[in-house]
Amino acid sequence: MITQKNFAALLQKERVAKLKGELNAIIVAHNYQRPEVQDIADFTGDSLELARMCVGTKAEIIVFCGVRFMAETAAILNPASTVLLSHPDAGCPLADMINVEKLRQWKGRYPKATVVAYVNTTAEVKAESDFCCTSANGVEVVNAVPSEEILFIPDQNLGHYVSTKTDKKMILYFGFCDTHARITAKEVKLAKQRYPQAKVLVHPECRPEVINLADAALSTSQMLRYAKQSNDKTFLIGTEEGILHPLRKQNPEKEFHPLSDSFICPDMKKTTLETVMETMEARRNVVTVPEEIRIRAKQAIDRMLAIV
Ligand code: SF4
Repeated sequence: MITQKNFAALLQKERVAKLKGELNAIIVAHNYQRPEVQDIADFTGDSLELARMCVGTKAEIIVFCGVRFMAETAAILNPASTVLLSHPDAGCPLADMINVEKLRQWKGRYPKATVVAYVNTTAEVKAESDFCCTSANGVEVVNAVPSEEILFIPDQNLGHYVSTKTDKKMILYFGFCDTHARITAKEVKLAKQRYPQAKVLVHPECRPEVINLADAALSTSQMLRYAKQSNDKTFLIGTEEGILHPLRKQNPEKEFHPLSDSFICPDMKKTTLETVMETMEARRNVVTVPEEIRIRAKQAIDRMLAIV
Protein backbone atom coordinates (compact mmCIF):
# COMPACT_ATOMS: atom_id res chain seq x y z
CA MET A 1 0.00 0.00 0.00
CA ILE A 2 1.31 3.44 -0.88
CA THR A 3 1.25 5.64 2.20
CA GLN A 4 1.38 9.43 2.15
CA LYS A 5 5.02 9.24 3.31
CA ASN A 6 5.98 6.80 0.52
CA PHE A 7 4.22 8.95 -2.03
CA ALA A 8 6.09 12.08 -0.86
CA ALA A 9 9.39 10.17 -1.06
CA LEU A 10 8.56 9.04 -4.57
CA LEU A 11 7.91 12.62 -5.69
CA GLN A 12 11.13 13.80 -4.04
CA LYS A 13 13.13 11.08 -5.83
CA GLU A 14 11.62 12.07 -9.17
CA ARG A 15 12.37 15.74 -8.53
CA VAL A 16 15.99 14.97 -7.55
CA ALA A 17 16.46 12.89 -10.72
CA LYS A 18 15.14 15.77 -12.83
CA LEU A 19 17.34 18.32 -11.03
CA LYS A 20 20.38 16.12 -11.59
CA GLY A 21 19.93 16.43 -15.33
CA GLU A 22 19.12 20.14 -15.26
CA LEU A 23 22.15 20.98 -13.11
CA ASN A 24 24.56 18.48 -14.68
CA ALA A 25 25.11 17.15 -11.16
CA ILE A 26 26.24 13.91 -9.55
CA ILE A 27 25.16 12.78 -6.11
CA VAL A 28 27.57 11.00 -3.81
CA ALA A 29 26.58 9.55 -0.43
CA HIS A 30 28.58 8.26 2.50
CA ASN A 31 28.01 4.73 3.77
CA TYR A 32 26.46 6.21 6.95
CA GLN A 33 23.65 8.05 5.14
CA ARG A 34 19.99 7.03 5.37
CA PRO A 35 19.13 4.10 3.05
CA GLU A 36 16.87 6.22 0.83
CA VAL A 37 19.65 8.78 0.38
CA GLN A 38 22.22 6.08 -0.46
CA ASP A 39 19.75 4.72 -3.01
CA ILE A 40 19.55 7.97 -5.02
CA ALA A 41 23.34 8.39 -5.14
CA ASP A 42 25.51 7.81 -8.19
CA PHE A 43 28.31 6.64 -5.88
CA THR A 44 28.41 5.48 -2.29
CA GLY A 45 31.50 4.82 -0.23
CA ASP A 46 33.71 6.12 2.55
CA SER A 47 34.78 9.76 2.60
CA LEU A 48 37.97 9.43 0.63
CA GLU A 49 36.57 6.95 -1.88
CA LEU A 50 33.83 9.46 -2.63
CA ALA A 51 36.20 12.41 -2.99
CA ARG A 52 38.39 10.34 -5.33
CA MET A 53 35.44 9.08 -7.37
CA CYS A 54 34.58 12.71 -8.11
CA VAL A 55 38.06 13.48 -9.52
CA GLY A 56 37.82 14.02 -13.26
CA THR A 57 34.01 14.14 -13.20
CA LYS A 58 32.40 16.05 -16.06
CA ALA A 59 29.60 17.09 -13.68
CA GLU A 60 29.41 20.78 -12.88
CA ILE A 61 27.95 20.12 -9.46
CA ILE A 62 28.79 17.50 -6.85
CA VAL A 63 26.02 17.04 -4.28
CA PHE A 64 27.80 15.58 -1.27
CA CYS A 65 25.54 13.68 1.14
CA GLY A 66 27.67 13.41 4.24
CA VAL A 67 29.28 15.88 6.63
CA ARG A 68 31.23 19.08 6.05
CA PHE A 69 34.83 17.84 6.18
CA MET A 70 33.96 15.26 3.50
CA ALA A 71 32.51 17.91 1.19
CA GLU A 72 35.62 20.00 1.83
CA THR A 73 37.82 17.07 0.80
CA ALA A 74 35.80 16.77 -2.40
CA ALA A 75 36.30 20.53 -3.00
CA ILE A 76 40.05 20.19 -2.33
CA LEU A 77 40.41 17.40 -4.89
CA ASN A 78 37.94 18.78 -7.45
CA PRO A 79 38.45 22.55 -7.74
CA ALA A 80 36.69 22.69 -11.11
CA SER A 81 33.35 21.47 -9.69
CA THR A 82 30.89 23.21 -7.37
CA VAL A 83 30.39 21.13 -4.23
CA LEU A 84 27.06 21.36 -2.39
CA LEU A 85 26.65 19.87 1.09
CA SER A 86 23.32 18.08 1.57
CA HIS A 87 22.56 19.81 4.89
CA PRO A 88 24.09 23.12 6.02
CA ASP A 89 24.63 21.99 9.62
CA ALA A 90 25.98 18.49 9.00
CA GLY A 91 29.33 18.65 10.76
CA CYS A 92 31.59 16.17 12.49
CA PRO A 93 32.10 16.68 16.24
CA LEU A 94 35.35 14.68 16.01
CA ALA A 95 36.77 16.97 13.30
CA ASP A 96 35.74 19.99 15.40
CA MET A 97 37.79 18.78 18.40
CA ILE A 98 40.96 20.23 16.89
CA ASN A 99 41.62 23.54 15.14
CA VAL A 100 44.73 25.20 13.74
CA GLU A 101 45.57 27.00 17.01
CA LYS A 102 45.42 23.79 19.05
CA LEU A 103 47.43 21.92 16.43
CA ARG A 104 50.11 24.61 16.44
CA GLN A 105 50.35 24.36 20.23
CA TRP A 106 50.85 20.58 20.00
CA LYS A 107 53.38 20.97 17.20
CA GLY A 108 55.27 23.39 19.45
CA ARG A 109 55.39 20.74 22.17
CA TYR A 110 56.60 18.02 19.79
CA PRO A 111 58.72 19.87 17.22
CA LYS A 112 60.35 16.71 15.84
CA ALA A 113 57.08 14.85 15.26
CA THR A 114 55.49 14.39 11.84
CA VAL A 115 51.80 15.26 11.89
CA VAL A 116 49.49 12.57 10.51
CA ALA A 117 45.92 13.84 10.30
CA TYR A 118 42.94 11.56 10.00
CA VAL A 119 40.83 12.65 7.04
CA ASN A 120 38.16 13.64 9.62
CA THR A 121 39.67 17.11 10.00
CA THR A 122 38.88 20.53 8.58
CA ALA A 123 40.68 21.79 5.46
CA GLU A 124 42.62 24.28 7.63
CA VAL A 125 43.89 21.51 9.89
CA LYS A 126 44.84 19.34 6.91
CA ALA A 127 46.77 22.32 5.51
CA GLU A 128 48.75 22.48 8.76
CA SER A 129 49.52 18.71 8.70
CA ASP A 130 52.22 16.70 6.95
CA PHE A 131 50.22 13.65 5.89
CA CYS A 132 46.58 12.60 5.82
CA CYS A 133 45.33 9.10 6.48
CA THR A 134 42.01 7.28 6.60
CA SER A 135 40.75 4.53 8.88
CA ALA A 136 41.60 2.12 6.04
CA ASN A 137 45.25 3.10 5.62
CA GLY A 138 46.39 4.66 8.94
CA VAL A 139 48.84 1.82 9.64
CA GLU A 140 50.40 1.94 6.15
CA VAL A 141 50.75 5.73 6.24
CA VAL A 142 52.34 5.84 9.71
CA ASN A 143 54.78 3.04 8.84
CA ALA A 144 55.80 4.77 5.61
CA VAL A 145 56.33 8.25 7.08
CA PRO A 146 60.07 9.08 7.18
CA SER A 147 60.08 9.90 10.89
CA GLU A 148 60.16 7.87 14.11
CA GLU A 149 57.85 10.23 16.03
CA ILE A 150 54.26 10.78 14.92
CA LEU A 151 51.76 13.30 16.21
CA PHE A 152 48.46 11.63 15.35
CA ILE A 153 45.33 13.80 15.23
CA PRO A 154 42.48 14.01 16.15
CA ASP A 155 41.09 10.51 16.97
CA GLN A 156 42.79 8.85 19.95
CA ASN A 157 41.11 5.49 19.35
CA LEU A 158 42.20 5.19 15.73
CA GLY A 159 45.64 6.46 16.84
CA HIS A 160 45.80 3.80 19.56
CA TYR A 161 44.80 1.09 17.09
CA VAL A 162 47.56 2.22 14.70
CA SER A 163 50.06 2.30 17.60
CA THR A 164 49.48 -1.43 18.15
CA LYS A 165 50.65 -2.07 14.55
CA THR A 166 53.80 0.06 14.47
CA ASP A 167 57.10 0.45 16.36
CA LYS A 168 57.01 4.22 15.92
CA LYS A 169 56.49 6.58 18.84
CA MET A 170 52.88 7.77 18.60
CA ILE A 171 51.71 10.91 20.35
CA LEU A 172 47.92 10.85 20.37
CA TYR A 173 45.69 13.90 20.40
CA PHE A 174 42.67 13.38 22.69
CA GLY A 175 39.76 13.58 20.20
CA PHE A 176 37.15 10.88 19.78
CA CYS A 177 33.97 10.15 17.85
CA ASP A 178 31.09 10.11 20.30
CA THR A 179 29.08 7.74 18.10
CA HIS A 180 31.83 5.11 18.11
CA ALA A 181 33.31 5.71 21.57
CA ARG A 182 29.87 5.25 23.16
CA ILE A 183 29.83 1.47 22.76
CA THR A 184 31.26 -0.48 25.70
CA ALA A 185 32.96 -3.85 26.04
CA LYS A 186 29.95 -4.99 28.12
CA GLU A 187 27.60 -4.36 25.18
CA VAL A 188 29.90 -6.30 22.86
CA LYS A 189 29.99 -9.26 25.26
CA LEU A 190 26.19 -9.27 25.51
CA ALA A 191 25.80 -9.16 21.71
CA LYS A 192 28.29 -12.02 21.35
CA GLN A 193 26.27 -14.09 23.83
CA ARG A 194 23.19 -13.48 21.70
CA TYR A 195 24.92 -14.38 18.43
CA PRO A 196 27.80 -16.65 19.45
CA GLN A 197 28.46 -17.76 15.88
CA ALA A 198 28.76 -14.17 14.56
CA LYS A 199 31.94 -12.53 13.29
CA VAL A 200 32.43 -9.20 15.05
CA LEU A 201 33.57 -6.32 12.81
CA VAL A 202 34.20 -2.95 14.42
CA HIS A 203 35.49 0.42 13.25
CA PRO A 204 38.90 1.53 14.59
CA GLU A 205 37.24 4.64 16.05
CA CYS A 206 35.84 2.31 18.75
CA ARG A 207 37.55 2.08 22.15
CA PRO A 208 40.58 -0.26 22.46
CA GLU A 209 38.72 -2.64 24.79
CA VAL A 210 35.95 -2.97 22.17
CA ILE A 211 38.47 -3.58 19.37
CA ASN A 212 40.14 -6.26 21.52
CA LEU A 213 36.87 -8.22 21.57
CA ALA A 214 36.36 -8.02 17.79
CA ASP A 215 37.46 -10.35 15.02
CA ALA A 216 38.57 -7.39 12.90
CA ALA A 217 38.85 -3.59 13.07
CA LEU A 218 37.96 -2.26 9.62
CA SER A 219 36.96 0.89 7.78
CA THR A 220 33.49 0.85 6.19
CA SER A 221 34.87 0.00 2.74
CA GLN A 222 36.93 -2.82 4.25
CA MET A 223 33.85 -4.14 6.08
CA LEU A 224 31.96 -4.33 2.79
CA ARG A 225 34.80 -6.27 1.17
CA TYR A 226 35.25 -8.54 4.20
CA ALA A 227 31.56 -9.46 4.38
CA LYS A 228 31.41 -10.23 0.67
CA GLN A 229 34.47 -12.49 0.69
CA SER A 230 33.74 -14.24 4.00
CA ASN A 231 32.14 -17.69 4.22
CA ASP A 232 30.55 -16.68 7.54
CA LYS A 233 26.82 -16.07 7.56
CA THR A 234 26.26 -13.87 10.61
CA PHE A 235 27.99 -10.63 11.51
CA LEU A 236 27.85 -8.16 14.38
CA ILE A 237 28.65 -4.70 13.08
CA GLY A 238 30.32 -2.06 15.24
CA THR A 239 29.96 1.16 13.32
CA GLU A 240 27.28 3.67 12.32
CA GLU A 241 24.08 1.86 11.39
CA GLY A 242 23.93 3.30 7.84
CA ILE A 243 26.49 0.69 6.76
CA LEU A 244 23.92 -2.06 7.41
CA HIS A 245 22.05 -0.97 4.26
CA PRO A 246 24.82 -1.75 1.71
CA LEU A 247 25.93 -4.80 3.73
CA ARG A 248 22.44 -6.32 3.54
CA LYS A 249 21.90 -5.23 -0.05
CA GLN A 250 25.17 -6.76 -1.25
CA ASN A 251 24.82 -9.94 0.82
CA PRO A 252 21.12 -10.92 0.92
CA GLU A 253 21.95 -14.44 2.10
CA LYS A 254 23.86 -13.20 5.19
CA GLU A 255 22.70 -11.67 8.49
CA PHE A 256 23.99 -8.37 9.86
CA HIS A 257 23.15 -7.10 13.34
CA PRO A 258 24.26 -3.83 14.93
CA LEU A 259 26.46 -4.28 18.00
CA SER A 260 24.41 -1.59 19.66
CA ASP A 261 21.22 0.33 18.86
CA SER A 262 23.01 3.57 19.73
CA PHE A 263 25.26 3.50 16.67
CA ILE A 264 23.61 6.54 15.08
CA CYS A 265 25.56 9.64 14.07
CA PRO A 266 23.13 12.58 14.47
CA ASP A 267 25.00 14.66 11.90
CA MET A 268 24.93 11.95 9.25
CA LYS A 269 21.19 11.64 9.75
CA LYS A 270 20.50 15.35 9.16
CA THR A 271 20.41 14.68 5.42
CA THR A 272 17.07 13.49 4.06
CA LEU A 273 15.62 13.22 0.55
CA GLU A 274 13.98 16.56 1.23
CA THR A 275 17.22 18.35 2.19
CA VAL A 276 18.95 16.92 -0.90
CA MET A 277 16.12 18.17 -3.09
CA GLU A 278 16.07 21.63 -1.45
CA THR A 279 19.87 21.93 -1.66
CA MET A 280 19.76 21.20 -5.39
CA GLU A 281 16.76 23.43 -6.07
CA ALA A 282 18.39 26.44 -4.46
CA ARG A 283 21.98 25.43 -5.39
CA ARG A 284 22.82 26.26 -1.79
CA ASN A 285 25.28 25.08 0.87
CA VAL A 286 28.22 25.64 -1.49
CA VAL A 287 31.41 24.39 0.18
CA THR A 288 34.54 26.33 -0.77
CA VAL A 289 38.11 26.15 0.43
CA PRO A 290 40.37 29.22 0.02
CA GLU A 291 42.99 28.44 -2.65
CA GLU A 292 46.01 28.91 -0.36
CA ILE A 293 44.55 26.40 2.15
CA ARG A 294 43.35 24.06 -0.59
CA ILE A 295 46.85 23.73 -2.08
CA ARG A 296 48.47 22.93 1.29
CA ALA A 297 45.68 20.55 2.35
CA LYS A 298 45.91 18.77 -1.01
CA GLN A 299 49.63 18.26 -0.41
CA ALA A 300 48.88 16.28 2.78
CA ILE A 301 46.28 14.20 0.89
CA ASP A 302 48.60 13.68 -2.11
CA ARG A 303 51.40 12.48 0.20
CA MET A 304 48.99 9.85 1.56
CA LEU A 305 47.92 8.84 -1.94
CA ALA A 306 51.55 8.40 -2.94
CA ILE A 307 51.92 5.81 -0.15
CA VAL A 308 48.71 3.79 -0.61
FE1 SF4 B 1 32.13 12.34 12.74
FE2 SF4 B 1 31.72 10.11 14.19
FE3 SF4 B 1 29.70 11.14 12.78
FE4 SF4 B 1 31.77 9.98 11.54
S1 SF4 B 1 30.30 8.98 12.88
S2 SF4 B 1 30.81 11.93 10.99
S3 SF4 B 1 33.48 10.54 12.89
S4 SF4 B 1 30.77 12.13 14.51
